[in-house]
Amino acid sequence: MTSVDHLRQVRLGNLRTVLLALVDRPGSRADLAARTGLTKATLTNLTEPLLAGGILVEEPATLAGMGRPSKPLRFHPGGPIAVGAEINVSHLAVETLGLDGETLERRLVPADMRRATADEVLDQVAALIREVTATTDRKVLGAGLAVPGVVHDGVVIRTPNLPELVGVRLADGLGRKTGLDVQVDNEANLAALAHLWPRHLAGEDFVHVTADVGIGAGVVLNGEVYRGVSGFAGELGHVVIERDGIRCTCGSRGCVERYAGLDVILREAGRRRLDSLRRALAAGDAKALDAVRKAGEALGVGIATLTNLFDVPTVVLGGSYAVLYDHLHEAVRSEMDGRVLAGGERHTRLLASPLGEFAVVRGAAGLVTRRAVQQPERLFA
Ligand SMILES: [Zn+2]
Repeated sequence: MTSVDHLRQVRLGNLRTVLLALVDRPGSRADLAARTGLTKATLTNLTEPLLAGGILVEEPATLAGMGRPSKPLRFHPGGPIAVGAEINVSHLAVETLGLDGETLERRLVPADMRRATADEVLDQVAALIREVTATTDRKVLGAGLAVPGVVHDGVVIRTPNLPELVGVRLADGLGRKTGLDVQVDNEANLAALAHLWPRHLAGEDFVHVTADVGIGAGVVLNGEVYRGVSGFAGELGHVVIERDGIRCTCGSRGCVERYAGLDVILREAGRRRLDSLRRALAAGDAKALDAVRKAGEALGVGIATLTNLFDVPTVVLGGSYAVLYDHLHEAVRSEMDGRVLAGGERHTRLLASPLGEFAVVRGAAGLVTRRAVQQPERLFA
């Protein structure tokens, strides 16, 4: 590496440090210097092009105690944004997100994607992206795309409920239709990322569990989503809880998903949709309560296995499990209490996700904003 390259790397590293500090919260140059360990002169030098490029803005001076008035820096409200998009079996969703973590716009459109071809699916996603980006003249950094399946090297290699997508390079396809740089990842990983970036909502080590047709878990260790070698990590839905149990679509038997998947809960409760189930639970319907409790027990056994493997202190129930949380968590808790080995030393925390049904698209957009902050040269591209 030449010394010029070296200086460039140091500068990019410092830029990343400053941007990460600003993701945490706005701050004056003096405050940022204290938080990052960089000198005020270096900070002035680093922030100049960010201000000139419309990425940061300097707020009017405020008097903070003694001394000179401070002028806090923060992300420009007209600065670059990212798009998140989600392909689900029964809906499509999009969200636009600023570098400061503020959501600009989001849409969730019910749509049956089961029989659609990959091209048809991408056409609909592209149309939604155009809708939410047409209303702003802010620069779009790129798009993150979430799919309900296993993704490896940008290719969907397994998606049991959307078989048309298998083997397709969705990022390339959507990139051609929108002109955006697109990254694709699994929905469970992205829902977990949404709890990590840009805000830590559940610490640095946790498992985020969601239910749709299948069950997905995003495992976060040391502040990073753990994907496994080929993208299959976190397949909680196929953890076996009954050796000779009900046959599963994966070819095995007794998988958690056959007892605690959303379709199983709805069927057992005699309901067709989640909102109808929610109303039945609120009205104290015995069949609905029983269906959710039984699912919670099965889920608790599966989660106990996961927490025993990864020793995480926090489990976040997201998606439809967050919606059902009030009626679900006691059964989950009681199974975990008897089965989590570390439970005697430390009580595993069980939380309902605050992000609800938009966690996945928020994570998809977050994939793009996080990459822009980690690779600041992208902001100037
Ligand atoms: Zn299975």
